Amino acid sequence: MGKSKHQGPISISKKPTPKHWVSPIPFGLGKVKPKHIRDTLKVVWENKDNLQYAKNILTKGVCDGCALGVSGLQDQTLKGAHMCTTRLNVLRLNTMPNIKEEIVHADIDELKKYSSAELRQLGRIPYPLIRKSGERKFSRISWEDAMNMIAKKIKTLDPKQYAFYLTSRGITNESYYVAGKVARFLGTNNIDNASRICHSPSKTGLYRSIGVGASTANYQDWIGTDVLLFWGSVASNSSPVSTKYMLAAKKKGTKIIVVNPYKEPAMEKYWVPSNLESALFGTRVADDFYQVNIGGDIAFMHGIMKHWFEMEEKVHGSAINHDFVQNHVKHYEELKAHVKAQSWDEIVKSSGISKNRIIELSELLANSKNAVFAWALGLTMHSFATDNISQVANLALLRGYIGRKYNGVMPFRGHSSVQGTSEMGCDPFVLPGGGWDAKNVKRIEALWKFNLPKWQGDILGVSLENALLPKDHARKLKLYYMSGGNFLETMPNPLFIEKALSQLDIRVHQDIIFNTSTLVDAKEAVIVLPAKTRYEQEGGGTSTSTERMIYFSPEIEGNKQVVKEARAEWKIYIDLAKRVKPHFASLIDFKDGHAIRDEIAKANPNYDGVQFLKKQGDVFQWGGAWLCEGGIFPTPDEKANLITIEIPKLQKSDGQFYVMTRRGKQFNSMVYNEIDPFNGTERYDVLMNEQDAKELNIIKGEPIVVYNEHGTFQGKAHFAHITRGNIGLHFPEGNFLIPKGIYDGPSGIPQFSVAVKVEKAERYHAKKDIDYLEKRIEDLETEVN
Ligand code: SF4
Repeated sequence: MGKSKHQGPISISKKPTPKHWVSPIPFGLGKVKPKHIRDTLKVVWENKDNLQYAKNILTKGVCDGCALGVSGLQDQTLKGAHMCTTRLNVLRLNTMPNIKEEIVHADIDELKKYSSAELRQLGRIPYPLIRKSGERKFSRISWEDAMNMIAKKIKTLDPKQYAFYLTSRGITNESYYVAGKVARFLGTNNIDNASRICHSPSKTGLYRSIGVGASTANYQDWIGTDVLLFWGSVASNSSPVSTKYMLAAKKKGTKIIVVNPYKEPAMEKYWVPSNLESALFGTRVADDFYQVNIGGDIAFMHGIMKHWFEMEEKVHGSAINHDFVQNHVKHYEELKAHVKAQSWDEIVKSSGISKNRIIELSELLANSKNAVFAWALGLTMHSFATDNISQVANLALLRGYIGRKYNGVMPFRGHSSVQGTSEMGCDPFVLPGGGWDAKNVKRIEALWKFNLPKWQGDILGVSLENALLPKDHARKLKLYYMSGGNFLETMPNPLFIEKALSQLDIRVHQDIIFNTSTLVDAKEAVIVLPAKTRYEQEGGGTSTSTERMIYFSPEIEGNKQVVKEARAEWKIYIDLAKRVKPHFASLIDFKDGHAIRDEIAKANPNYDGVQFLKKQGDVFQWGGAWLCEGGIFPTPDEKANLITIEIPKLQKSDGQFYVMTRRGKQFNSMVYNEIDPFNGTERYDVLMNEQDAKELNIIKGEPIVVYNEHGTFQGKAHFAHITRGNIGLHFPEGNFLIPKGIYDGPSGIPQFSVAVKVEKAERYHAKKDIDYLEKRIEDLETEVN
C-alpha cells in the first residue's frame, strides 16, 4: 500500500536537555510517581522459581503486554533496550506453576471469594475441567471427553446458536486465523474479538474516511513532527515505553498536546526507566492540555475547523492544505458548510473549552506542516465513537497530515495482539484480507475450499443478549466458546452479564488462568480447557503491533513449570472442527505454524511476507512505512472522504455529571496495584473537580455515592484536575453504572460513559430511607430484576 520501507531503529541524541526535566532532584524524590526499581525487584522475586525461563522470554520473546511491540529487548523505533513494568507484571502468567489441586477442586463458593487478581495469582489451569449444573466443584475430565462433549453439543445446535470469542491476551495471529476459519467451517459467523470493546470504532471510522482501518504512521513519525496530539489516550500508562519515544520527540522539538477531560499525571510527567536522564530527572511530557468534556471532542474539533475556515476567509491557504484537498479528498464543500453552520456557543458548551483556547490550538495546527494524531479509548468508548474517529480524520485530511513522514493518524492499541484479530477474520463483519463483501467471500471460499455461511454474525454484546432469548428462539445462544476474556469485568452492566453467562447451556473457557467469569454457573456445564501461552506454542507465532509490525515470537525453551496438558490454541480449534465434521477434516488441517503462516499470506495479501518469519527478531511491517502514501487512498477512486459529523447530544440534565472510566495501575482489566502510583488514588476513589465538590458540600476524602437508574457506586471524593461536570471512576469498578445494549452503530462498541448523580453518602442514605418509607407496600413487595 505504501512504497517506502521503515528504516529500522535509529539512535537519538544522548545530550541532556534540562528544560524537559521534571526536577533537578534525582529519582523524583518527594513526588507521587511509580517506583520502577522496587517494582522490578518485586517481579524478580515473584519469578524466582523460574528465573531462567523468565529471562529467556524477556530476551527472546515478543512482548505479550501492550501493542507497542518489541522482540526481545529491541524494538523497531529506537536503538537501545526496551523494557517496562507492564511487561514484567504480565511475565508471571507465563512462568507460574499449576493451580494447587486442592484449590482447583475447592467448593465453588470458596473459589468465588477470590478477586480476579487473586485468581490470577493462583497459577495455571492444569488440565481440562468440567463443572456440570448443580455440581459444587470442578472435576477433572480428559481432553478426549471434553472435546467430544463440546462437539456433540455443537452438532445438535443451529450454527446461529453458538458463538466464539477471542481475547487479545498473548494470542497469536496463527490462533486467530485458525479460529476464524474453524468457526466458518463449522457454519457460524458468530465470532468476535476483544477489539470490539476497545478499538473497533478506529477501524470503522478510518475505513469509511480513508479506506483502511489501521495506523497510517509509525512511531518514528512522532520524533521530529511539529505536533504530536493525543486524544483520550494515556499512552504513558498503557504503553510505558512510548514515553521514551515522546522524550526523543521532544528533543527534536516536537510539541506534545493532550486532549482529555482529566489532566492525567502520567501524561504530565514521567520517569522513563530505560533512559538514564529521564530516570534521574523525569520528563515533562505534555506541552499543553486541553481538558474537554467527556463526549466533547467532536465539538472541539468542529471549533478547530471553524476557525480554519475563518482564517481562510481572510487569507486563502492560511489553514487548509488546498493542494492535498483538491487532489486527494472528496466532499470538502459539504464539510465546510456544515462546520461553518455550527455556532461557537454550541461548540464551547459541548466541548467545555473556551473559544480562545480552541483558536490557540487551531492556529498552532494551521502553522504546523506536520502532525501525528494518536488516540485511544477516550474517543472509542462512546455510542458516537466512529464519528469521533472520522472527525479526527477530517482534521488530518484538511491539513494533509497523512501519507508522508512525520504525519499520520494512529489508533493507539492496547493488547499486544489486538491489531491482528480482525485482520485474521475473527470478526462477524470481516474475513482475512477484506470485509464480508461478495468478492472477498468468493475469494476466501476458493482458498478454503468450502462454502462460508452467508448470514450476518453477531457482535459479542448481542451474542450475550441472545443468551437470554426464549428457549426455542432461532438465535438463542446456547454455547459460547471463549478463548480468554472476562466479560464480567470488561462489559457494561456486570449483573446482566452474569445472568447471560449463566443462561448458556455450555460455556467453554479456553484459557491459561481462572477468572471470575470461569466460576459462573451454566445450565448444562462449564468446560475449562488449558491453553498454552504464546511462548509455548509449537513452531512459535506472530503478533501485529499498533504500527503494523508483524513480529515473530519463537517457542521459548527452559520452562521449569510446564503445564503438561496445555495445548496450543490453534490445535484445539482444529481438534474441535475434526470432531464436529470428521468427513471434511482434511479441509481444516494444518501441519504446523509455518503451514498456517503460508496460508495467512494468501488469505490476507497485506500479510504476504509473514510466511518468511521463522526465527527470533524476524519482523516486517505490512503496508510499508506510511499507508496512503502520496495521498493515494485505498478507496475505489483513491480519494479520502471528508464526513460531516453532528455534535452528539449527551443525555445529561442540570446537576448531573458525566462519568468516564479510567485505568490506574493495571493492564486493561488486570489490576496490579490498588493504588495508582501517578495520583495516589485508590480503586474506589471518585475523581472530581474541587469546585463541583464544594457546591455539593463534599469535602476531600469524604464518602460519596455516584448513582443513576442502572446502578450505585459507593466511593470517596478525590479532588483532581478534571473538567467541571465530569467525574472519573476506575475501570472496571465503574461498569455497574453503565447500561447494557447501547452501541455505536457502525462498530458495535458498547457505550462506556453515562450521566450520573453525585451525593454525599450521608445525604444519599438519609434520603434513601425517606424514599423507602414513602414507598407503597406493593412496590416494596415487587421483586427487582
Ligand atoms: S511498552 Fe508495551 S510492548 Fe513495550 S515492554 Fe511495555 S508492555 Fe511490552
